[in-house]
Amino acid sequence: MSYKLIDGRLQARALRGEIRARVGVLRELGWHQKLVSIAVGGIEATALYVRNQQRACTQVGIAFEDRSYTADVTQQELRAAISALNVDPRVTGIILQRPVPSHLDLKYLQNSIHPDKDVEGMNAANIGNIVYGGSALGPCTARASVALLKSTGLDLRGLEVVIVGHSEIVGKPIALQLMEEFATVTICHHETRNLAIHTRRAEALFVAVGKPGLITGDMVKPGAAVIDIGINQVADRIVGDVDFDSVVDVAGWITPVPGGVGPMTVAILLSNTVQAVERQRRSYEEAMASGAPSWA
Ligand code: NAP
Repeated sequence: MSYKLIDGRLQARALRGEIRARVGVLRELGWHQKLVSIAVGGIEATALYVRNQQRACTQVGIAFEDRSYTADVTQQELRAAISALNVDPRVTGIILQRPVPSHLDLKYLQNSIHPDKDVEGMNAANIGNIVYGGSALGPCTARASVALLKSTGLDLRGLEVVIVGHSEIVGKPIALQLMEEFATVTICHHETRNLAIHTRRAEALFVAVGKPGLITGDMVKPGAAVIDIGINQVADRIVGDVDFDSVVDVAGWITPVPGGVGPMTVAILLSNTVQAVERQRRSYEEAMASGAPSWA
């Protein structure tokens, strides 16, 4: 079976071009954008993500501020910092980098970010709104994964989709987005009795577990689109959850790791950042029209 590579870097570059244009339009209307990153604990991998995000923002004309806190920062201090950013009109997006030290309550802090500035789509309001479809700021990786599947041109209506991994930020929001498109969706997790029975039925297979080589060629339906979301450090290499070498012989489409979902996730973060400003502008104009003060 000859397969087609779903090139996340190429698609991310195209999306960045569109985003740059949207940033330009907003700037002409007087709306500037600033993304503030909050990182805790001086973790090297986090610092790398932050540098990548900063570079990506610079490429499309979004201002970026890196705020780093030492590992002993308290929950109250971070909550206060987020509250100040929520009401700062110069700040249009906030991102709390993961992981955070164990004494901090990640979900609580993510829910402290105003939903209109939550560009990672981690606030419960944004995740919950995916159920209703439309323009929610959805979690970036889930949106990136669905965008890559759509790029294959497969008709999603009635498509047999299997998602391995049901986390709140990846597996579940992917399922909700695809149900909105009338795909037939199955979700697998660690209690799933026979994973291969499900994966072999999939015309589109998403894998987001964090176990290298979990999905092998004998578990994939010939011609399926395989979206590998996993990121695993194995010796000095980054690999996905899919055993690429055996799956390429069977799949119709496949995302590489690295170079698939990862770069597209960063592009979706930028897209969410612009979408957030577009929403803030709408809220502001509605508030002005009704004579009520805007939240900002
Ligand atoms: P997570 O919160 O740890 O969730 C992993 C999921 O896999 C859980 O739902 C778990 O089910 C399920 N699982 C565990 N063992 C399984 C098995 N043997 N068979 C089937 N399902 C199993 O992780 P996550 O945040 O969703 O991330 C998943 C992977 O994606 C990680 O490798 C992460 O690094 C990667 N990731 C990549 C990006 C990107 O930009 N490319 C972004 C985010 C995450 P239970 O809860 O039932 O145990």
